[in-house]
Amino acid sequence: LSEAAQDVLDEIEDKDVDFLRLQFTDILGTVKNVSVPADQAEKAFTEGIYFDGSSIDGFVRIQESDMRLVPDPATFSILPWRSRDDIDGGNSARLICDVHNTSTGEPFAGDPRGVLQDALDRAEEMGYTVNAAPEPEFFLFEEDEDGRATTETNDAGGYFDLAPKDLASDVRRDIIYGLEDMGFDIEASHHEVAEGQHEINFEYDDALATADNVATFRSVVRAIAAEHDLHATFMPKPIPRINGSGMHTHLSLFTDDGENAFHDGDDEFNLSETAKQFTAGILEHAPALAAVTNPTVNSYKRLVPGYEAPVYVAWSDRNRSALIRKPAARIPAASRIEARFPDPSCNPYLAFAALIHAGLDGIENDLECPDPVRENIYEFDEAKREEYGIETLPTNLGEAIDELEDDEVVLEALGPHISEKFVEAKTEEFRDYLVDVSEWEIDRYLEKF
Ligand code: GLN
Ligand code: MG
Ligand code: MG
Ligand code: MG
Repeated sequence: LSEAAQDVLDEIEDKDVDFLRLQFTDILGTVKNVSVPADQAEKAFTEGIYFDGSSIDGFVRIQESDMRLVPDPATFSILPWRSRDDIDGGNSARLICDVHNTSTGEPFAGDPRGVLQDALDRAEEMGYTVNAAPEPEFFLFEEDEDGRATTETNDAGGYFDLAPKDLASDVRRDIIYGLEDMGFDIEASHHEVAEGQHEINFEYDDALATADNVATFRSVVRAIAAEHDLHATFMPKPIPRINGSGMHTHLSLFTDDGENAFHDGDDEFNLSETAKQFTAGILEHAPALAAVTNPTVNSYKRLVPGYEAPVYVAWSDRNRSALIRKPAARIPAASRIEARFPDPSCNPYLAFAALIHAGLDGIENDLECPDPVRENIYEFDEAKREEYGIETLPTNLGEAIDELEDDEVVLEALGPHISEKFVEAKTEEFRDYLVDVSEWEIDRYLEKF
């Protein structure tokens, strides 16, 4: 037993933990749980816990369905909202797991966490560790009498508004306490631009821990909002014609000796050549990356001009209509790039893995970074975009999947197993959308024709 695993066993004892939730995510980013009594913890660390993978979306076929969960002791955390005085019995805790194949004993190719680990291994071979920090945005909506989510916001606040207009601030405070109980370092939280919309920022970490954090974040936010009879949603564009929810993702590479490989004090933008090549890699693969970072039909309702979400493939050191922004950094360690296109409906493991591989590919191939665009690109017409050589993101999920199918780098980032299942699932999702008739069409045409 590793020292870290032994520490977890001690904590289980000390904190009176009765149940362990072993968690992993499926290809679509949904967190899955297997609950085991706490006395199984030692066995979980030594032998793993076996489960049937055939019922998990995109995992395996029935005939090869035995999977093994291998918990990562670094992810042990007591679940605060399952652990209060009003609930009988002891505490519940969770451990995030890697998924292994029982027949080969190897990491399972369909495990998104393993795919991110592969990306980080590639970075490490190139001499880098990867830091990531997301800015997940979400809406809080009222529930109806039956407890079902509506799209009624519970407040009419706007950007950085304070109570009493920002009625949700006590909900947000409870969410933050819950996150802090689970070990999050919260940097800031604020009311976002749209009514009912919020953002909570947490401290950057290595990309694997950050992806784990995103998965945890979404469940904590939903669970605590529900205690206030509110529905928290990470759907990218729940209300048309106002801002949608993004998950801007800040990325930087550090070298083995702890230096920020993205910083260069002599550069106009304080960005190193490495940072620019990494940026160029993301720009080059952006249309295919979108399938992973913006993986729902609804994602593309957010990626339209005028709502602070990117549409055009360009970077900037100032304006927010660009796909990638270089945020101001007070200290060299904070030099980083901000990818503004991802949204919080993505699978964070796959999204980070794809972004990282695209960036590393830019470094490996010495890709040249275009000049930053400082004007508001929303206002460019086609001729001007052409003059600047600015491409457009896919306008719908179908186009994004087509781009993905043609992009070897992003396909390889996901690996053959996940890319096949992912393309299959998303193609079906898009086809299903295409045959549907929307409310917009009824409103527009029913009485007209
Ligand atoms: N909600 C915007 C988006 O979709 C971002 C707004 C902001 O953070 N300034 O990306
Ligand atoms: Mg922000
Ligand atoms: Mg924001
Ligand atoms: Mg931002």
